[in-house]
Amino acid sequence: ISRNPGEDEFHQAVREVFDSLHPVLADHPQYVEASVLERICEPERQITFRVPWVDDDGRVQINRGFRVQFNSALGPYKGGLRFHPTVLAGTVKFLGFEQTFKNALTGLPIGGGKGGADFDPKGRSEAEIMRFCQSFMTEAYRHIGYDLDIPAGDIGVGGREIGYLFGQYKRIAGRWESGVITGKGITWGGSLVRKEATGYGTVYFTDHMLRATGRSFDGAKVLVSGSGNVAIYAIQKIQELGGVVLGASDSSGSVYDPDGIDLNLLRRIKEAQRGRISEYVEKRDRAEFLEGRNVWAVAEKSDVDIALPCATQNELDADDAAKLIKAGVVAVAEGANMPTTPEGYRVLREAEVLFGPGKAANAGGVATSALEMQQNASRDTWSFDYTDTRLSEIMENIHSACAETAAEYGREGDYVTGANITGFLRVADAVIAQGVI
Ligand code: NDP
Repeated sequence: ISRNPGEDEFHQAVREVFDSLHPVLADHPQYVEASVLERICEPERQITFRVPWVDDDGRVQINRGFRVQFNSALGPYKGGLRFHPTVLAGTVKFLGFEQTFKNALTGLPIGGGKGGADFDPKGRSEAEIMRFCQSFMTEAYRHIGYDLDIPAGDIGVGGREIGYLFGQYKRIAGRWESGVITGKGITWGGSLVRKEATGYGTVYFTDHMLRATGRSFDGAKVLVSGSGNVAIYAIQKIQELGGVVLGASDSSGSVYDPDGIDLNLLRRIKEAQRGRISEYVEKRDRAEFLEGRNVWAVAEKSDVDIALPCATQNELDADDAAKLIKAGVVAVAEGANMPTTPEGYRVLREAEVLFGPGKAANAGGVATSALEMQQNASRDTWSFDYTDTRLSEIMENIHSACAETAAEYGREGDYVTGANITGFLRVADAVIAQGVI
């Protein structure tokens, strides 16, 4: 903690993984002897850079850009870019640390990295966003590459931003290198299912957790936080599986729709018009806007069976957990990264609520990014159904690896321990095999 002052989210992520490792370290002293813990929580490289750009009024704006190349034991660094005003060095470090174990869980050859900037895209014009992305890539391009580090999207970075980033990379490098970034458009090297993958994958993982205890999404009442990329496609898949999504949110508040969220309307507002979620209730008679409240407030108005936090870190705390338990929740799975606070998790665990941690439940996004890289390398394009089947198999494998590891260590049904130990062992063994580097 004294070496990384002020990086609370990073400490939180490290503590959560290390808390799970006691039984492994007791059985396998080689990890302690080889200082593996110290090595895996020190990033291999951290890059911080100035991102200067000119706004529409002709004023020079300065943001701070980051790329943390956390761990390359299993493959080149891989992880998204986040553009949000709250992004600090510690945010990117926590995300890079989580990403290392998440990527290990996919079973694909990818190391962990993450990046971003404290840039707020809200209220910015298209031209401003493009100029920002171009300036960001003007520095970032020298640090990334197909065999080195492959960024993707995250909060505030969707298809539009990936397009501007890729365009600038191509311009500087003077070559078409599709494998240098993922989340590309379908006609220029992107993969079908990538856009849907994190949301779908979270629902596939949750479905396996439910089925392991004789339950399913069919007829279940579900809350999903957020209304961005992950949330929208989680909602779509839940509805396909027969679940009823009663609430969604954005940073301004949440909506409760007792008739079930109208996904076409939500997509029109959030994806096409880039509007605010309050606009949703203008078009739905019985829907309510809960201004300034998070989506878990809907649990005060309705029974809830399943909750999927899909917005941001630390958005589900102990009070929210208590509210959900009172409403009857049986399963929580994290579409976002670290959305549940440690206290929130404790409350859910004590009530024996099934819990899917983000590094397992939301790994479908990065897994499909790795499938995009495979398609780029073979200059091939796979069909939607084929890619979705691969995603579904990967999520099933992650679920069974976590469940089996948890059982092996006497923690049946504890997916947090299962995910942390499985991810750790894969990374730690590769770190040791590659010597003191
Ligand atoms: P988007 O930018 O598409 O959507 C984010 C959503 O969360 C928006 O509805 C946004 O509301 C809301 N949100 C963001 N910050 C806050 C905040 N501080 N308080 C309340 N609401 C907030 O991002 P994604 O859907 O891509 O990412 C969501 C989460 O999923 C993140 O934790 C991300 O790291 C994680 N994730 C994403 C993956 C991907 O493939 N995209 C892969 C794996 C994990 P508003 O519109 O008002 O800002």
